[in-house]
Amino acid sequence: MAISFSLEGKSALVTGANTGIGQAIAVALAEAGADVALAGRSEPAETIALVEATGRKCVNIRADLSSIEPVGRVIDEAAAGLGKVDILVNNAGIIRRDDLLQFSEDDWDAVIDTNLKTLFFLSQAAARGMVERGTGKIVNIASLLTFQGGIRVPSYAAAKSGVGGVTKAMANELAPRGVQVNAIAPGYIATNNTAALQGDETRNRQILERIPTGRWGDPKDIAGAAVFLASPASDYVTGHVLAVDGGWLAR
Ligand code: NDP
Repeated sequence: MAISFSLEGKSALVTGANTGIGQAIAVALAEAGADVALAGRSEPAETIALVEATGRKCVNIRADLSSIEPVGRVIDEAAAGLGKVDILVNNAGIIRRDDLLQFSEDDWDAVIDTNLKTLFFLSQAAARGMVERGTGKIVNIASLLTFQGGIRVPSYAAAKSGVGGVTKAMANELAPRGVQVNAIAPGYIATNNTAALQGDETRNRQILERIPTGRWGDPKDIAGAAVFLASPASDYVTGHVLAVDGGWLAR
């Protein structure tokens, strides 16, 4: 049988897809043949236009994923709009920065809830249908801080290292039921999220010197990995955290 990266006939749900990495993933999944549902709190007008330009269906679901309250509704609306959810990409995420000695409970809870708690319960809700059909793919967006501690971002490091852990936990239990769960750890990717770093001449130079590939990542670099992990080509890959970092972790 030929190796297939095609997502023809599949339906995908992507969180936080109005911009950056989530937008690139939603468009790439559509280009590979999937219909796409977007879940987020902002109006993803540009992403909807880009997905529809591929000829695929696009469903927009407004939801604030800082709590698990909308999780059931998001899966129900995606399934109602597209028929089913075969692929879930947990991309929505936030970061809060502060000195460790004064890091607040609010900055702790907000990051853990959005980046980790919602990711698990949305996956759980999506996995029910996937298990019923005996097939599905969950792709979690992790970080280099899944492997490293970082500075001034303790809740982000805790959440993203938790994403690595929960990816493996879900993969173990869902593999026998036909569902693969993997994560992508993006390196330094040029998005709104990293605009301040890119604009800081000294930090930008330090970062570029440390990346073997010698450039910032593009959201499309992450989207390519997401298409692989959503496609039949990765059917024997599960519980893996794939660094897409220009070689950062290799150095
Ligand atoms: P963006 O800030 O461009 O995208 C983050 C997305 O998450 C936005 O669509 C945002 O929507 C959404 N989001 C945030 N909070 C919520 C919420 N409460 N409910 C619904 N949606 C929400 O950043 P990136 O594209 O860079 O980041 C995407 C993912 O990649 C994140 O998980 C991030 O941690 C991860 N990542 C990014 C790296 C990088 O270098 N850029 C490196 C490593 C990991 P809204 O516009 O409404 O806030």
